[in-house]
Amino acid sequence: MSDDNGEVIQEWEETCKRLSAESAEKNIPYVPPPFPFDKMKQYLRAEIQHAVQGEVSKQVSDLRMSLCMSCPSRLVTYMGVTDPDGIGFCDACGCGANKRAALGTKTKIAGASCPKGLWGTDTGAGGSMASVKDAAFGIIASASNFVKNMGKIDPMNPNGQNDPTNENKQAG
Ligand code: SF4
Repeated sequence: MSDDNGEVIQEWEETCKRLSAESAEKNIPYVPPPFPFDKMKQYLRAEIQHAVQGEVSKQVSDLRMSLCMSCPSRLVTYMGVTDPDGIGFCDACGCGANKRAALGTKTKIAGASCPKGLWGTDTGAGGSMASVKDAAFGIIASASNFVKNMGKIDPMNPNGQNDPTNENKQAG
């Protein structure tokens, strides 16, 4: 899948933390980065395409899989999760380590693509009730991750510390 929303939020959170720490170090005002709605839209588009078109042909998924199998970004255990199928996850795409992001699944999803440009999006070989169910599962799981992760971060104070510029204002 192009991106899992939980992973997108995690990346954004880390960027907020890094920029906040850099701003504090340089004593300049911290401006949170824009939320990556474009990545979330890309993910939703791929799931909707999957619901309508279904999986790519076996020929396409086999070719994608052969490229992944010889790629150094493929990890059987990623983010503490081991793929039960032994194929693994991609550590370059930001998809995370969930069931939909496992390369055995991702390589079959028409709207998915390789972040290194080794393989691209394609068309599905035909939608079915199963593809609608898979896409719905992916979207519901992502929405749940979104709600869970969004509750954890205050983009204005990502490091859990008071903004030094506010302290200055209070002290003055
Ligand atoms: S999706 Fe691309 S970068 Fe990721 S493991 Fe497969 S070939 Fe490598």
